[in-house]
Amino acid sequence: MSDGRPVHPPLAQFPVIDDCLQIGGMPLTQLAMRVGQTPFYAYDRHLLTERVASLRGVLPSAVELHYAIKANPMPALVQHMAGLVNGFDVASLGELHIALDAGMAPAAISFAGPGKRPMELAAAIAAGITIHLESFNETETVARLSQEQQRPARVAVRVNADFELKAAGMKMGGGPKPFGVDAEQVPRLLRQISDLALDFQGFHIFSGSQNLRPAAIIEAQNQTFELALRLAVDAPTPVCSLNIGGGFGIPYFPGDTPLDLAPIAANLARWLPIVKQQLPVARVILELGRYLVGEAGIYVAEVIDRKVSRGHTFLITNGGLHHHLAASGNFGQVIRKNYPVAVGNRVIGTERETVTVVGPLCTPLDILAERMELPKADIGDLIVVFQSGAYGLTASPTSFLSHPPCPEILL
Ligand SMILES: *Cc1c(COP(=O)(O)O)cnc(C)c1O
Repeated sequence: MSDGRPVHPPLAQFPVIDDCLQIGGMPLTQLAMRVGQTPFYAYDRHLLTERVASLRGVLPSAVELHYAIKANPMPALVQHMAGLVNGFDVASLGELHIALDAGMAPAAISFAGPGKRPMELAAAIAAGITIHLESFNETETVARLSQEQQRPARVAVRVNADFELKAAGMKMGGGPKPFGVDAEQVPRLLRQISDLALDFQGFHIFSGSQNLRPAAIIEAQNQTFELALRLAVDAPTPVCSLNIGGGFGIPYFPGDTPLDLAPIAANLARWLPIVKQQLPVARVILELGRYLVGEAGIYVAEVIDRKVSRGHTFLITNGGLHHHLAASGNFGQVIRKNYPVAVGNRVIGTERETVTVVGPLCTPLDILAERMELPKADIGDLIVVFQSGAYGLTASPTSFLSHPPCPEILL
């Protein structure tokens, strides 16, 4: 090492043996051979299991956990999650099929999202899952389809809250939003649900994503419970599910610290008896995507070329934004920051250098790491992007520049 600073394994969940990153108990180099090609995504099922177990160990046991499939819809991973969580949240007919294929009970699947098409709603009714209603028109369509099928649809109301999640990466509620029905219009929607004889289940209030500040999450949860209790007064039948969203973030960037769950769990424990008293049959559900799967996955690309341009070294890999838009900084980041990156087969290496790691696409946006200090890497070395288990492949423009598809494996 050139500067004498200690170099730690990039992330504790992946051990390093003989300077090679291990995943699923296997050296990364061996895994690359087993996959048969680069680039690829790899997810570790033991890390998924541990993550859910440690979360359940902290949360009050009455809180149910749902997995939001859009974070990572790989069927084998969803299948594994089916054995760990209480339910799934889907956002399309495609995700609904994955959820049902994984063996999740229909009653434990909910379907949210704006602009659900009649065909998707009809499939949801036939499957017997819960539809999260996002508009008055949608409610009418659901009622019509229910009547056609002679099956009362199970519905919940997705509420666009009258508050915002502070310090969230992505705000999903508060102010004018395409998601859910504004809190002040919910009493009218509840009357419509009652008039149309739909099978009312409860409320869904999801205010935002990628939050690392417990105080902000607690404040949003407090406002969520208060709002739900207020809205429940107009419910046509007892509230049996109260989905309070999630928003739990994971650390990506220098200075980010892992979310401290203890104060959040304590706040939930304070609310549960209040909910029990006012909504005696309501199950309280946390729906999480990124927090459950994000840290269990890596993206692996191979160095195809290295070159020096006006004194700056570029590592050019066969992977890039077409597989991993988020790591390139183009999935909702305002200022581009580097995801954690390592040279997987040379974690400490001998010499270090500052490089920019790019992909093969003809666009300056195709960056995996910008001006990052890494061990000196050669052609054939494996670049690893950590924290890649959520919003990776399916959140990327895979057709852009017509490169080959990227395999995903679950170890
Ligand atoms: C995307 C989404 C989630 C998951 O969000 P994460 O930030 O990945 O936890 C949960 N619920 C709904 C309704 C969503 O749209």
